[in-house]
Amino acid sequence: MDTLQQSKTVRVAFYSTKIYEKELFDQHCPEDKVSFTYYEASLNAQTALFTKGFYAVCVFVNDKVGKQVIDALHKNGVQLIVLRCAGFNNVEVAYANEKGIKVLHVPAYSPHAVAEHTLALIMALNRKTHKAFNRIREANFALDGLLGFDVHGTTVGVIGTGKIGMTFCRIMLGMGCEVLAYDPSPSESLSDSGVKYVDLENIYRKSDIISLHCPLNPNTHHLINDASLSQMKDGVMLINTSRGGLIDTKSIIKGLKSKKIGYLGLDVYEQEEHIFFKDLSDQIIDDDVIMRLITFPNVLVTAHQAFFTENAMGNIVMTTIENIVNYFEGHSNFNEVRM
Ligand code: NAD
Repeated sequence: MDTLQQSKTVRVAFYSTKIYEKELFDQHCPEDKVSFTYYEASLNAQTALFTKGFYAVCVFVNDKVGKQVIDALHKNGVQLIVLRCAGFNNVEVAYANEKGIKVLHVPAYSPHAVAEHTLALIMALNRKTHKAFNRIREANFALDGLLGFDVHGTTVGVIGTGKIGMTFCRIMLGMGCEVLAYDPSPSESLSDSGVKYVDLENIYRKSDIISLHCPLNPNTHHLINDASLSQMKDGVMLINTSRGGLIDTKSIIKGLKSKKIGYLGLDVYEQEEHIFFKDLSDQIIDDDVIMRLITFPNVLVTAHQAFFTENAMGNIVMTTIENIVNYFEGHSNFNEVRM
């Protein structure tokens, strides 16, 4: 608070900056209140040293804010970790709080963006539109290999029915699917709409399509593993737009080889911080697991783009700035991550 009162602007070190973010944040930033200094680098123990004189850091999904980083931030006087995303599995929130650092996030910016991208993955995998696009450009108008199935009438299992899972359930109900769901806190309104809450075993056994929408935490880490896969239907379609760590990637590679998994759509990947959000097209990638995954013809990977709509970005920018301003001006309406 002192810094704000002295200088009137809050100095924020902005990590993992992309050009499109800088443009949007600069466009909407009230200069008299907040000043962003943009770093392309992600936040880690080394780059945390650049925070001297800053009151806050602004981070994204793949900035790993563990104890060592928090110690460095604390030593430099940083009082606020501002996530410009919803998930906070990459931040040791309890430790930050112990050090007197608050953690803010953007709890909801557009559940539609992620839910609609989930549908896009399902439909592209099913109808192979990405392959058809390439074929047609080479004047190959044959249909061989493009056979899909009606999604109408299939059983869709949804794990996690919070903001995104709920939106996705409603989309799939609209497409005429039977929707099964698992969530420790079921939604009454979703049940009233026709979603049937069942246990995980029933999700695995009965679903043609399984989509993950729960947070990554110690209970959900590697939720999809050899044991859960063995319970699924042969040829199941598995979609993960949530967090990479929900899936044991080695198990799904086995599942793809054995044809247990018929289709795999991923927008997130366990080791994504080393590769996603970067153009590595002229480099040798030493992550053999992702390279193996993308060789399967029935796997579609997008690089954590489910959130990336104009609407969602607008909400992220405005809420992040409001969080910072509201916190520093002593208002109560900022979005603190509470454990
Ligand atoms: P949310 O907090 O609104 O909902 C999460 C739901 O998961 C809650 O209903 C909770 O009860 C449920 N849950 C908790 N533990 C569970 C468990 N063990 N099994 C099943 N359900 C469980 O969150 P949200 O905004 O809907 O986000 C869901 C996920 O999507 C988060 O992991 C988030 O990080 C991820 N996400 C991804 C992107 C992207 O671009 N790919 C963007 C935003 C969010």
